[in-house]
Amino acid sequence: MAYLINDECISCGACEPECPTNAISEGDGKFVIDADTCIDCGACAGVCPVDAPQPQ
Ligand code: SF4
Ligand code: SF4
Repeated sequence: MAYLINDECISCGACEPECPTNAISEGDGKFVIDADTCIDCGACAGVCPVDAPQPQ
């Protein structure tokens, strides 16, 4: 399981430094989560202003 950033992402970058496994990086038009690195902790969802990271 992993979190997935949906299209609501406004590329603010707030989630990237919060991820304990550095699974988040800036993608094309939004930030993206590497599903193989994500440990499902939910820290990204906790800081996102638009609730873009969602558990899958
Ligand atoms: Fe990183 Fe946790 Fe978000 Fe997964 S759920 S991308 S490990 S902050
Ligand atoms: Fe996108 Fe939310 Fe991360 Fe900001 S905190 S880059 S809006 S997913």
